[in-house]
Amino acid sequence: MNSIWLDSIKDFTNFNSLNSNEETEICIIGAGIFGLTCAYYLSELGFKVSVIDKEYFGKTTSYTSAKITSQHGIFYDYLYKSFGLDFAKDYLEVNEKAIQNIKNIIDKEKISCDFEIMDNYVYTTKNDELQLFEDELFALNEIGYSASFVDKISLPFDIQGAICFKNQAQFNPLKYLVGLYNSIISKSNKVYFNTLATDVKREDDKYIVKTNYGDITSKYVVIASHYPFIKFPGFYFSKLYQSTSYILAIETNSELFDGMYINNSAPIFSFRTAYYNDKKILLIGGGDHKTGQIPNYEKSYGYLEEKVKQLYPDSKIIYKWNTEDCISLDKLPYIGPYSSLYPNMYIATGFKKWGMTLSNVAANLFVDYILGNENKYAYMFNSFRLEPIKNSKEFKNMLVDSSHGLFLDKLKHSNVDLDTISNGCGNIIEIDGEKFGIYKDDDGKIYAVKPICSHLGCLLCWNALDKTWDCPCHGSRFRYDGKNIYGPGVNDLETFQL
Ligand SMILES: Cc1cc2nc3c(=O)[nH]c(=O)nc-3n(C[C@H](O)[C@H](O)[C@H](O)COP(=O)(O)OP(=O)(O)OC[C@H]3O[C@@H](n4cnc5c(N)ncnc54)[C@H](O)[C@@H]3O)c2cc1C
Repeated sequence: MNSIWLDSIKDFTNFNSLNSNEETEICIIGAGIFGLTCAYYLSELGFKVSVIDKEYFGKTTSYTSAKITSQHGIFYDYLYKSFGLDFAKDYLEVNEKAIQNIKNIIDKEKISCDFEIMDNYVYTTKNDELQLFEDELFALNEIGYSASFVDKISLPFDIQGAICFKNQAQFNPLKYLVGLYNSIISKSNKVYFNTLATDVKREDDKYIVKTNYGDITSKYVVIASHYPFIKFPGFYFSKLYQSTSYILAIETNSELFDGMYINNSAPIFSFRTAYYNDKKILLIGGGDHKTGQIPNYEKSYGYLEEKVKQLYPDSKIIYKWNTEDCISLDKLPYIGPYSSLYPNMYIATGFKKWGMTLSNVAANLFVDYILGNENKYAYMFNSFRLEPIKNSKEFKNMLVDSSHGLFLDKLKHSNVDLDTISNGCGNIIEIDGEKFGIYKDDDGKIYAVKPICSHLGCLLCWNALDKTWDCPCHGSRFRYDGKNIYGPGVNDLETFQL
């Protein structure tokens, strides 16, 4: 699976892995947009920084749709009613600042990343959603933000209405990350790829980040691994779930629109344009579901293909991909100290599919944490807050999902026989009471794994769309041959020769 973003930087191969023990001031685990933005600002301030990533540039950032906006769906009415006017105002203000910060970095570092100022729209085609839009406009008006309501947009279909935020932006996120990388390296700081953090140990006032190639000792640690891979303390796995969405990149000879668009309720359609071989193309996204709930083609890529054929009959799909993001139960990220037991260790996660601006917000907060400065926005993202637990409906859903993966499904007997699994398919079989995850490739070669998540031991499900083993509890994913591709699981699955 590739994305246009990954393809656009395919010549970027001149990087290193860690090859010996190392001492630094700040170790950042994860080279996605959050980890590298953090490293960028800290390098600018003269700190000694080492970033490690178990693979390459950000796993989620490589497959995002990269709209840079403070309009995170219909959200301000929720913030206003749940947390009050000042909170909603601060959330908007800090995300608007983030757009400007990203632009400032691009200008200062002269990063060529197809950055374009664009208006962003949340639209609805449903008459019965107009009240939600009115409430959102009311909240925005109270905040003092002049969003406009329109009943026409430049997408080729009719809508009931849309709310427009002016002067938002879009870019190529990986060209941006390469720009950050170059700046970090130019300050003699380090970014190591293919370097897996397996654990973090505290020794006196230092941390030792254990990796597959050596230890990094540092005073500060920033967990920028998307879903936190350390389980205890912190317990973030009880406060977060992961959601997968799908994107198609489309070539068409029809004239494409300006602006970025997303509708308000399922089925979700997200639209933006991008550049591929200097030609303007369309990106359409949607198909959201909880990671670990097994997707089918019709409800993921299929319905996007249908929509795009209807809108642009000559359309040609040039890429399709999917990725997942972390979502907290109260819809706000966790940005702050990792745990009161681990001083100088920080975390940012739960960007809820709006990580372009929120990662910049988080990076600025960490700079202030490390410098010991107060940050007026820190209170919104308090990483110790317990309020999410009060979202009893979502909390119960998470417990039900986890108990299935951890206990109930493990007790179920598998009646599937090895011979009944066709080539190109996967399933769980049982031999002498022990479960095996089997995938037969197109030539009938068998890949056998222990289908138990390396995070907390949940029983994995076969995802026929991507040929992966997915965890219904916390969203870890593993390739058919057992290689871990998404956290929080860190280790690969045990494999067998059958
Ligand atoms: C389909 C989709 C579309 C989206 N579109 C938008 C959008 O239009 N606008 C927007 O604002 N947001 C969007 N988002 C959200 C946004 O893409 C994410 O919030 C953001 O990319 C997350 O960045 P990150 O740096 O936290 O994570 P990542 O980019 O995933 O980086 C984390 C890195 O940590 C590494 N890592 C993990 N564990 C370890 C370990 N143990 N050791 C070493 N390294 C490790 C991983 O390999 C990974 O590279 C979208 C999300 C999805 C799913």
